Amino acid sequence: MSFLVTSEDPSDRLSDRCCNLSPSLSDPAKRSTLCMQLMLVMLHLVYIGFLLIFDSEFMDSLKRHHWYTIIYLLFFMATIAQYLFTSGSSPGYVLDAMREFSRAEALLRTSEASKRPAPSKNDSVIVTLDGNQRGENILGNNRMNWTKMVMDMYPNGTSVRTCTCSFCNVVQPPRTKHCHDCEKCILQFDHHCVWLGTCIGQRNHRRFWWYIFEEFVLCIWTGIWYMQYLNDHIKESWWNVVFVIIMLAILAVSMMFLFLLLIFHSYLIMTNQTTYELVRRRRIPYLRSLPERVYPFSKGVCRNLYNFCCVTSSKYRLEALPSSHAVDHMLIP
Ligand SMILES: [Zn+2]
Ligand SMILES: [Zn+2]
Repeated sequence: MSFLVTSEDPSDRLSDRCCNLSPSLSDPAKRSTLCMQLMLVMLHLVYIGFLLIFDSEFMDSLKRHHWYTIIYLLFFMATIAQYLFTSGSSPGYVLDAMREFSRAEALLRTSEASKRPAPSKNDSVIVTLDGNQRGENILGNNRMNWTKMVMDMYPNGTSVRTCTCSFCNVVQPPRTKHCHDCEKCILQFDHHCVWLGTCIGQRNHRRFWWYIFEEFVLCIWTGIWYMQYLNDHIKESWWNVVFVIIMLAILAVSMMFLFLLLIFHSYLIMTNQTTYELVRRRRIPYLRSLPERVYPFSKGVCRNLYNFCCVTSSKYRLEALPSSHAVDHMLIP
């Protein structure tokens, strides 16, 4: 008779304990996201740490309470906070929108306001957000109503099957896509951001724009501090100079990338498009038949900007596809 004894590595036990402490650490995808977030925060701390430790001009300025140094430090902290807020924000999950729809339906039924006419075809529907839980069969008896409301947003003849997510088994409103990293359907899906570890969608696109704007300004401002340092210490130790040049090179590349990203997303906002719609236009069933220069969800630059900047992110906006008549109107120069 033989016994098989398995010995457990102490490091495995430690990692198991960590996983028990935080269930999210047991998921490799969430672990790599957490590592990416830590790396990004660390990179910021290295930049500010160098100035605080080695740059006497910076420290003198800070001790004398010069306003521009204090504002720089506050801006630095605000950018880190914005990164963490954006990273932890909800992009707008279809399941949450369905839940809110279900609540609104229940309220309408219990009050006499249920006699209000249903939203007409091609209108935008706004569902107010009041929760962020997840669950199966959240709609109950309202599933049929949700399906009907969503299908009214598509052109006549669109089948329910083509609009149903095969992973979540929910009927997707227009502009929705299933994200395989988040394993959820996202309203107005833009892209899944590996740096933030979350999707960018309807409810956090504005926050994302502000984050890249702040990061871009921070890059310029930090670059100025480093250029000043290089100018003052160019004749001192070579390793110091090499280090600062490498840091400046990373800043220059990041600045260029952020600038292009900012311009690109500003263009998307002004035309009410998403990155996914722009890149995969020929693969999205309801977009591929439309002429190239038609932006079906655009209400004009001013209205698009107003909706993006001023419509509260505590609401879900479900946008209908335009009718063929409206598309013809968009083609008129
Ligand atoms: Zn899905
Ligand atoms: Zn995602």
